Amino acid sequence: MKESEVIIIGQGPAGLSAGIYTSRAGISTAILGCEPKIAGDYDIDNYFGFPETVTGRELVDRGMKQVTRFGAAIDCDRVIGIHFDDTGKYIVKTEKDEYRTCSVILATGVSRKKPRIPDLDKYEGKGISYCVSCDGFFFKGKRVVVAGEGLYAANQALELLNYTPYVSICTLGAKSTITDEFMKQLSEHNVQVMETGIASLYGDMNLEKIEFTDGSELDVSGIFIALGDASSVDFAKSLGIITEGNFIQVDRDMKTNAPGIFAAGDCTGGFLQISVAVGEGAIAGRSAIEYVRNTCRPAK
Ligand code: FAD
Repeated sequence: MKESEVIIIGQGPAGLSAGIYTSRAGISTAILGCEPKIAGDYDIDNYFGFPETVTGRELVDRGMKQVTRFGAAIDCDRVIGIHFDDTGKYIVKTEKDEYRTCSVILATGVSRKKPRIPDLDKYEGKGISYCVSCDGFFFKGKRVVVAGEGLYAANQALELLNYTPYVSICTLGAKSTITDEFMKQLSEHNVQVMETGIASLYGDMNLEKIEFTDGSELDVSGIFIALGDASSVDFAKSLGIITEGNFIQVDRDMKTNAPGIFAAGDCTGGFLQISVAVGEGAIAGRSAIEYVRNTCRPAK
């Protein structure tokens, strides 16, 4: 288990900006995530201080170098779950590690994927769920499917085993990217991984049956959507953080309603621009510094 006073999830403009503030203030900081969308050959014409334009890649590279100079640890690693532990800290589980931290800054951008499954909307709240921590309990002892191809889906499936032994994963036709280590854990619990798509959903009031694209059928009570990487909204739901649609609700200090959890950048909605993400990152960083100093550092 690694320790860091602040974990920042996201290496885009918001996350890097927050990290500059926290690490420069002497708060141990780990910034997780991978290359942000903007780190390509896109000309950025509207960012302050670059009269001849700058590419997104150069801007991100510069931010990375700057935050590293102040001592932040940067790792290309994806977060698959966050929970509050009994010591009053947060445990952040990633594809590669596990961290204990005082404060988390969510800066994952907007990436929530909704699968194209016929009638998905019709069964939302009636079998279709996006959050195991919120809804797993309602499926106690029932057969459920996790829809997703990666480690986030694998982690959600393992969490569901706390409620029911009848869990399988459907990749919706994508190639599974679940690692051997996770596959071993899944097979130890008889969690089957199916690489087929979903053709139709059936049920009068609630979801009752899935028909797969290969023609096979499965009686189920629930499908938990866990496509790609976990998004801020996924983390928010499992931590009881208030959201507005696909965005995290924050106050002027970028505080969420969960103690020690802040959010910045595109994941908070509004004007989705680099300058806004950088500004919000700075505010979230300042709030996290204050929180760590007041809450997790022993008084001298
Ligand atoms: P992002 O930059 O999206 O970064 C999100 C980070 O979160 C990434 O590092 C990602 O790997 C990480 N992440 C996501 N999920 C997880 C997880 N589960 N675990 C760990 N890490 C995770 N804005 C402008 O101001 N000017 C422009 O000219 C402009 N051009 C654009 C061109 C394109 C093609 C695109 C796509 C966007 C453009 N934008 C532009 C918008 C701008 O890129 C965004 O507003 C800005 O990048 C938001 O920053 P962010 O840090 O909030 O999120």
